[in-house]
Amino acid sequence: MKNLADFTIKSFHDGLLNREFSALEITQEFFKHISVRDKEVGAYLTLLERDATIQAERVDIMVARDEAVPPLAGVPFAIKDNMLIEGVRTTAASKMLESYIASYDATVVKKLKKEGVVILGKTNLDEFAMGSSTENSAYQLTHNPHDLGRVPGGSSGGSVAAVASHMAVAALGSDTGGSIRQPASLCGVVGFKPTYGAVSRFGLIALASSLDQIGPITKTVEDAALVFKVIAGKDPYDSTSVDRPVGAFEMGLSKNNLEEVRKLTIGIPKEYFIAGLDNLVARGVEEAIKKLKNLKFEIKEVSLPHTKYALSCYYIILPAEVSTNLARFDGVRYASVAAAEGHIKNLRETYFKNRGLGFGVETRRRILLGTFVLSAGYYDAYYAKAQKVRRLIKNDFDEAFKEVDVILAPTSPTPAFKLGDKVLDPLSMYLSDILTIPVNLAGLPAISIPVKKYPLQDKELPIGFQLIGKHFHESDILNIGQLYEGLE
Ligand code: GLN
Repeated sequence: MKNLADFTIKSFHDGLLNREFSALEITQEFFKHISVRDKEVGAYLTLLERDATIQAERVDIMVARDEAVPPLAGVPFAIKDNMLIEGVRTTAASKMLESYIASYDATVVKKLKKEGVVILGKTNLDEFAMGSSTENSAYQLTHNPHDLGRVPGGSSGGSVAAVASHMAVAALGSDTGGSIRQPASLCGVVGFKPTYGAVSRFGLIALASSLDQIGPITKTVEDAALVFKVIAGKDPYDSTSVDRPVGAFEMGLSKNNLEEVRKLTIGIPKEYFIAGLDNLVARGVEEAIKKLKNLKFEIKEVSLPHTKYALSCYYIILPAEVSTNLARFDGVRYASVAAAEGHIKNLRETYFKNRGLGFGVETRRRILLGTFVLSAGYYDAYYAKAQKVRRLIKNDFDEAFKEVDVILAPTSPTPAFKLGDKVLDPLSMYLSDILTIPVNLAGLPAISIPVKKYPLQDKELPIGFQLIGKHFHESDILNIGQLYEGLE
């Protein structure tokens, strides 16, 4: 049997069909590994050993009967704890939902279940997915598997740390301003945010509905493409999802389409090489560019002039949407807030207590900010203006995409930072997403890929770069990503 660290979706599938192991055996191995390793990593909030075992047995029966086995069947998966699984506690890492049991499956979960995926558990995140280090979780810290003293990034820190420490073969995360790509880059795995509307968000606890997108976290680009194929598509329950065929990315590039892929032009936006970009990151991204040049890609500089306004624009629009989306959590619906129980005089006090005790500091900060920017008298000055700036940022990309097919940039301005370094300074934490946020504002697809493959040298921290594509041109970035990956 393989070492758990060697599993990709692809190699798991091949091994399963060749009867090198059973799904049940591997599932049990994963839980064994989790019981030791997760004590120090802290990726999982809930483990689903019973359901996982039943599902693995089902897959083994399919194999034994020589039935058609879907590519994801039996694959050990982790799901970020802001996506609903029927009958399973879903907390969004908030005290507000401490005892909430989901009454239905998110569409992505339903699709994965239909494929026969084995869901090992639910992973930690920043409360309601607000943060860049997973330190805003109400429950526990998650540690970067490459250096336990550092953050895994966020908000999908649990999902990413699980994949990076071989406690899952793949995972789902959500990306509103970078929450899949930034942690993927800090932990040395692949994180893929599809185009806005490409994947249904039904059953995702909404953060900012005009920005949220679900996507895969995997060890290879090829795996990300495999998961994307399964979860993409129109869903009647999410009116923002669209009916577009999933692009023609090829599993295992053949000689012919390799030539096609090489014809794509790559743009390097000068505004992304900001002052404050860590040296290691700059060098890593240079290395990636050089490798792609050697593959004969045409690479040229492009300009995205409004990039410098993206962060401020995001921190108006996001809190505005947060303040409305989170208004439904009052400790009466969904779940009660344990800390608020006791003698309460009236309804008003119920709400004050529940929301005061149920939400953490960062969540309250953003609700207040959002309520302010939407209030009469300030709406035009802040919210309406931010919407206009958002349009300018999107226009920048439209212009750049007239000259190039794909844009390449660093994912995060720094490698993984130390636990505790930024959590008390919201502004410096917000700066972690300066390079990922514009993509969400423009609704584009983007994938973060490790500059180097495992294993890294001792004490070496992972660095990621991102490829950004045109709307619904996931195939371009996935194909280039696969080529890059095949280099080593
Ligand atoms: N870190 C960003 C924030 O705090 C992005 C979060 C996300 O993508 N969910 O809002």
